[in-house]
Amino acid sequence: MIRFLVSTALVCLLPASAAAKGPKKAKNVILLLADAGGIPTLNAASILGHGAPQKLFLQSWEHIGLSDTSPAGGWVTDSAAGMTAIVTGKKTHNGVISQGDDTVRGKQDGATLKTILEYAEEKGLATGVLSNVLIADATPAACYGHANDRGKHAELFLQIFEPRFGDGVDVVFGPGRKRLWESAQKIGKDIDAAAKQRGRTVYSSLAEVPADARRALAVVDDGFDLNEAAKRAVKALQQNRKGFFLMIESDAHTNQPEAGLNRLIAFDKLIRELTTMVNPEETLFLFTADHSFDLRVFSGKRGEPLLKGYDEWKKTHEPNERSIKLASVRMDNSHTGEEVVVAARGPGAERVRGFMPNTHLFEIMMAAYGWAR
Ligand SMILES: [Zn+2]
Repeated sequence: MIRFLVSTALVCLLPASAAAKGPKKAKNVILLLADAGGIPTLNAASILGHGAPQKLFLQSWEHIGLSDTSPAGGWVTDSAAGMTAIVTGKKTHNGVISQGDDTVRGKQDGATLKTILEYAEEKGLATGVLSNVLIADATPAACYGHANDRGKHAELFLQIFEPRFGDGVDVVFGPGRKRLWESAQKIGKDIDAAAKQRGRTVYSSLAEVPADARRALAVVDDGFDLNEAAKRAVKALQQNRKGFFLMIESDAHTNQPEAGLNRLIAFDKLIRELTTMVNPEETLFLFTADHSFDLRVFSGKRGEPLLKGYDEWKKTHEPNERSIKLASVRMDNSHTGEEVVVAARGPGAERVRGFMPNTHLFEIMMAAYGWAR
């Protein structure tokens, strides 16, 4: 009874606005996207990397939900429709980048959908997009661009220099320079000239980026290091007092199982490191996949290598074969339609629960910042 009276007295001393404030808002949101990193892939990565299930760092997060990834009119999504749903809150057709379901892929533009990155730019936050695959591929491009076909890499990348909100995405680091520059040439465009017109430079390595840069673009050909890129990005974006939005994509396709699973193990390690770089009280970490993938652990036991027999398999098969069957793991190179996990920590993480459509991730990020559509 005494304790009750004391706490009541304390509440009365607080200003009314503080008492009625409700859940804490996020200053920063870091969206962590394991491309094709479904639940079976997380399971296999934990076993390969740590010798047992549920040993990944992100598998220790308290707030989890299950996200349906289906695109408009279908059951199995590609990265374009999958990421569009996550960053705009609207489902669209496969192959379409942040345009509505009125789009005809490759033929006719649909409604331009405002992305969470564009909201952040509009509000004056710092923004960043990182990937360890082509930086104009569907997942990163859906954050900063809009197109009726994901194949329009150069058109999408060039939209960085014609932002619809704010001063455009601040930090973009990723690979694919040769491919992207060639694709620009084919449509008669010059990426370096377009950047220069906006007073920007697209560096060809992370090493060239000035150490104290608040804004920087780097598109790299070989040896891109996502870990280093992420740390540099966080340091750059943190200089904005209003906060930031950062999307980090790591490819978790496991058509080459060992490489794919090791990338996911490394991504998990990076995520652990990132949680120590920011104030956990003001940063929402949101992990998910754009879709699942047909990799399964169907046998095996403790103490036995998960990928037993893979070295022998490689000697007798082409590296890009569609299907692989080992003693404990089988893989068929296709996306699959079942739900993917959403895991969260930080302010707003409590909204991640139960089964949800992938479009709900957009709502979760908006609510975490305290923004209305
Ligand atoms: Zn994908």
